[in-house]
Formats: sequence, structure tokens, C-alpha cells
Amino acid sequence: MIISDQGAAGRLQIAIDGPAASGKSTVALGIARRIGLVVVDSGSMYRTVALISMEEGISADDPEALVEIARRVSSSFRLELAEGDTLRVYLGERDVTAEIRSPEVGRSVSPVSEEPGVRAEMVRLQRCLVEGRDAVVEGRDIGTTVLPDAPLKVFLEATSPERTRRRALELEARGVDVDRDQVREEIALRDRIDSSRAVSPLRLAADAVPIDTTDKTAADVVDEIVGLLADKGLIH
Ligand code: C5P
Repeated sequence: MIISDQGAAGRLQIAIDGPAASGKSTVALGIARRIGLVVVDSGSMYRTVALISMEEGISADDPEALVEIARRVSSSFRLELAEGDTLRVYLGERDVTAEIRSPEVGRSVSPVSEEPGVRAEMVRLQRCLVEGRDAVVEGRDIGTTVLPDAPLKVFLEATSPERTRRRALELEARGVDVDRDQVREEIALRDRIDSSRAVSPLRLAADAVPIDTTDKTAADVVDEIVGLLADKGLIH
């Protein structure tokens, strides 16, 4: 698959947004592998800030301390596409991949992500990682805020039962004891906070293509997005 000439300034940058457990990470990795792009999981950055603030006993209502942590995270954050198609997350030499997926971090990440100063730092980091590169970036505000000029934006959705099922399977696979009602409630709470915050809330960008992934496999969704890229003449 060949990436079409994007012009002097342009790169092939794909924005994937959507609520929790809508399939963004799996689909982003699938596209990255299929077309050969850099993949950026922006949620892992906010999760890393939440992890460090938990470890240091900083609460979500201490903006100055949170921003200081965000700056530190930003200066030593690294993503690495590892064997077995997993995206590993490093803070300096420390591998935080598993820790940032814990239920505790899941519960504390949305309040931390509401802080405008944290967002400013993370958006800067995301833009820096994709500067001058072909990339697929996934999150909540990629199409609206981080990469408003991305030539393709998609917004993944799925029903609440399906998203609960996916998140529960993911947690079970990591050996976490799962109460499905609790998983459903935590996803709903996270979406509510993410959608209603003042700065860059989760929202469908005007020019984004919504894709309902409820009855689709990740491979189906990757095919659909690759089809959209071809229709737009972005790959051939
Ligand atoms: O994508 P993931 O579920 O790992 O994201 C974790 C959290 O990070 C989200 O619930 C949201 O609070 C925050 N986030 C964000 N903006 C992004 C990506 C994630 O606020 N672009």
C-alpha cells in the first residue's frame, strides 16, 4: 500500500476518536500495521499522569501539582511498538504499560484529564510526536483539537453492553476480577466526565466519519478505514 503525495506540508495523519472501549486502540494498531504509520495512543499519556499523581498522593483538585507532573511525564514519555503488536508505554526507563491499565488508574484518569494545564501539556506532546510524520492518533479530542487539519477523521462508537463486554474481556485477560455492572458504570462515568468537561470535550468533529463498531470485528473496521483512505485518494 502506497501513501499518496500529501504535498509539502501535509502528512497522512488519521484522527480516531470515540468513547471508552469503542475499539480505538485495536483499530489504530491495525491501521498502523497495515499502512506503516506511527501510532500514538493519547489516552496512555493521560493515564500516565494519573498513575504518577496517585503514586505521589496528588489529588485531582491540585492543578499546579498536576501540571508539574504533566510536564515531567511529557519530558520522558515514550511509546514503543513491541512484538506481538502491543504498544508499550515508558516513562524514562520505567515500563508503565500494565500499571496504567489498572482499574484504579481507570477511575482517576478522567478527573485528572479535565485540568486545562494538563491538557495543554499533553496536546503539545502529541503534536510533537507526530510532527512531520505519517501517523494514526487516537483519543477523545484528536479531530477537534490536536489535529484539526487531519485529512481523515473517524469517530468510533459502540453500544454500552458491547463496550462493557470488551472492557471486561480485556481486564479478565489480564487476570483482574471483574464485576460487569461496575465496569459498565465506570465506563459511563468516564464518558460523562470526558464529554462534559470545559476544555476539548469528547465530541464528533464536524468533518469526522462516525463508525458504529458494535457488530464489527476490529479487522472489519480497519478495512472500512482503509477504504475511506483510498476513496479520498490518500493511499493507493
Ligand atoms: O483512551 P483511554 O480510555 O485509555 O483514555 C483514558 C482517559 O484519558 C479518557 O477517559 C480521558 O479522560 C483521557 N483522554 C483525554 N483525551 C484524549 C485521550 C484520553 O482526555 N485525547
